[in-house]
Amino acid sequence: MINASLKELSQALADKKISSVELTQLYLDRIARHNPAINAYITVNGERSLAQARAADARRAAGDGGPLTGIPLAQKDIFCAQGWRTTCGSHMLANFVSPYDATVIQKFDAAGAVNLGKTNMDEFAMGSSNETSWFGPVKNPWDQERVPGGSSGGSAAAVAARLAPAATGTDTGGSIRQPAALCNLTGLKPTYGVVSRWGMIAFASSLDQAGPMARSAEDCALLLNTMAGFDPKDSTSLERTPEDYGRLLDAPAGAKPLAGLKIGLPKEFFGAEEQAGCDTEVMATIQAAIATYRELGAETVEVSLPSMKLAVPAYYVIAPAEASSNLSRFDGVRYGYRAPEYGDLNDMYCKSRAQGFGEEVKRRILIGTYVLSHGYYDAYYLQAQRIRRLIADDFAAAYAQCDVILGPTSPTPAFKLGAKSGDPVQMYLSDIYTIAVNLAGLPGMSLPCGFVGGADKPLPVGLQLIGNYFDEARLLNVAHRYQQATDWHQRQPAGLE
Ligand code: GLN
Repeated sequence: MINASLKELSQALADKKISSVELTQLYLDRIARHNPAINAYITVNGERSLAQARAADARRAAGDGGPLTGIPLAQKDIFCAQGWRTTCGSHMLANFVSPYDATVIQKFDAAGAVNLGKTNMDEFAMGSSNETSWFGPVKNPWDQERVPGGSSGGSAAAVAARLAPAATGTDTGGSIRQPAALCNLTGLKPTYGVVSRWGMIAFASSLDQAGPMARSAEDCALLLNTMAGFDPKDSTSLERTPEDYGRLLDAPAGAKPLAGLKIGLPKEFFGAEEQAGCDTEVMATIQAAIATYRELGAETVEVSLPSMKLAVPAYYVIAPAEASSNLSRFDGVRYGYRAPEYGDLNDMYCKSRAQGFGEEVKRRILIGTYVLSHGYYDAYYLQAQRIRRLIADDFAAAYAQCDVILGPTSPTPAFKLGAKSGDPVQMYLSDIYTIAVNLAGLPGMSLPCGFVGGADKPLPVGLQLIGNYFDEARLLNVAHRYQQATDWHQRQPAGLE
């Protein structure tokens, strides 16, 4: 059961081979067994989950089930869920029980999915290793001395360790794709505005986007069908005709299912000098995936994204700027942590924020306030916004020559816990391949494409596919055809029976 796809689980529920209560209990048992080591979940509430499962079984019995009715899912702890503690990985919100549901949670509820629990994450989604969480680091199920990636590391570890069939994540600069890559999952960051941000605790509002993290592109399509859609409560949500993101997946495969597809390979990822920035084994794995794509009928063309090199610096101006503004609401007055002892009101603000936020969050608030301050705004923030435009223009030019862009997701496989936590710049460089996608607002995904590091402790490698705006259905199909031809995505970490 724990290796079944969402489609298979849905069928098993429909055929009454298993009930949602049994399925949910199976996962709750696995969580009880393995979560103490992996630390993928911050909050589990078996009673609440089982109540939802009973309701789902009743819905199915009444003939009112959809594809996700009764399927348990892990939710990143960035989504407000009514009655659930919602911490965003922070001491600041360690005692916060949400009075309302995020739109994403509401949509899963309406579909009859079961909330299995809230997953660990970097504090306020700031990080690439899950080490900034106030609730402690998450261990990578493939090697528990290594990080699962971040910030959606809890979701990634939960699905990889089979502590959930699938999960949600959010991606501001790579936080769905990078942990998916490091844990052997398929993850999709949709076009900005496709999934509502309402009730998703804000990090950098112009970049944040929620998406699915699962084992296959098919599963991702199923989840995205529920998550996506216009929401009047989010002013950046896009009003578009609903679509079936899995509509291309059922067409027969044939020998060359991707004939006619043009895959762009950016010089900035694959030039001789640029490849040096990527682990050589990772690069060799990506090259092998490119060869598979050619066998599937795709044609590759060289494209160029000249402003790519400016993505990390521009992001680390824009994201902290927006974060410094978004996080000003945590003042110890309305909700969240309040320092137990303080003098006047100002002192209460200072002490509550000083004690409630961790180091990385404080670093971002300081950088963000600095780049927005009078006298520096033009030099940093405005300049970063101009770079953002150049990056979007680069992608637009590239899509005149190709349908999708391909590259690595992360320059390295999962690194050791503690390896980069003392060096923020090294940590920021983990996102070198993912960040431009958020700056441009494009959809991007990561899918498993092989392993490095030997048979003893194999470490997964992720392949990144970047689509043009609203091209999620095509991206999912391009990933799906690769998954029909390979079995990397089906491999599971050892020792978690
Ligand atoms: N690692 C990046 C950061 O620390 C991206 C995080 C994210 O996508 N939420 O900001």
